[in-house]
Amino acid sequence: MTANKLSRYPEFHMSNTARFAVFGHPIEHSQSPFIHGQFSKQTGIALSYSAIDVTPEALPTALEAFAAGGGRGVNITLPLKEAAMACCVDMSSRARLAGAVNTLTWSSSGWMGDNTDGSGFMRDISDRVREHIRGRRALLLGAGGAAHGVAPALADSGVEELIIVNRTPERADKLVDAIGDPAHVHTRYWEALGDIGSFDLIINATSAGRDDAGIKLPFSLAGQRCIAYDLNYGEAAGSFLAWAKAAGAAHLYDGLGMLVEQAADAFEIWHGVRPDTDAVYDALRERGHSLHTGD
Ligand code: NAP
Repeated sequence: MTANKLSRYPEFHMSNTARFAVFGHPIEHSQSPFIHGQFSKQTGIALSYSAIDVTPEALPTALEAFAAGGGRGVNITLPLKEAAMACCVDMSSRARLAGAVNTLTWSSSGWMGDNTDGSGFMRDISDRVREHIRGRRALLLGAGGAAHGVAPALADSGVEELIIVNRTPERADKLVDAIGDPAHVHTRYWEALGDIGSFDLIINATSAGRDDAGIKLPFSLAGQRCIAYDLNYGEAAGSFLAWAKAAGAAHLYDGLGMLVEQAADAFEIWHGVRPDTDAVYDALRERGHSLHTGD
């Protein structure tokens, strides 16, 4: 690492405390520094954790500089999850299957990549809120980085059938092909959402809720005992959860629990200790991250 490269990232100067960070663009609204700070207090593991704005073009240099300054782990968020793969010397099989990396761990040979989106989602829905998803007919909306993390875990969870639908159908086709379970996992066109019957598990893994127009779906999709789960949280989850409530879904969840669980997975990879996620989830709700259902 040249002095010139390090000087572009003055916040990376050497320190004795193990350094961790979340990289993304934009990054100022990230909850990860709060979450890892809570995990650190809870477990007594001293660390520094910061949120760093990095563009995809700057990612390789930023990672090199971070490691040279004592960086030992990085969470990767939008829009860097695919670009991060090229910066890894090796990856877990779930990161390879997802085609996206959200957790990097420094080793003597370089950055090791993992993807904890799928495990974070499964822990939240199965362990924290204790929903039984085995045997359900499931619809996954979206085929971006998050859907790639969640879909293999869902396909493996015992759901009766998984249909993946994306605005750009080729991305859903690719994801379904990568999972390779044609008896249970299929794709349909977004325009045909009104003709594919009802589901008892619907997961929104699109970022449509961030647009002013929100997400528009036919009411026929939600079956009577439907669980509606939005990977987004806060206002970004509002339009999907308001639709699900109006469509008669029985249980509504946003992605705040998944956020905490996937962070706990990263913490466990880095420190070998699983923190208590319930306390941190409650603290985030108390900090104003309420469930938006359009009320
Ligand atoms: P991404 O890679 O950018 O993918 C975005 C997805 O949304 C694509 O499938 C895209 O479809 C679809 N989309 C965007 N606008 C749409 C619209 N108006 N109508 C229909 N589909 C639309 O993003 P990502 O990483 O997958 O993340 C998706 C969302 O999940 C983000 O909002 C993110 O914050 C959230 N997330 C939450 C967690 C958590 O821990 N709770 C973890 C990861 C992600 P096209 O392919 O057609 O563009």
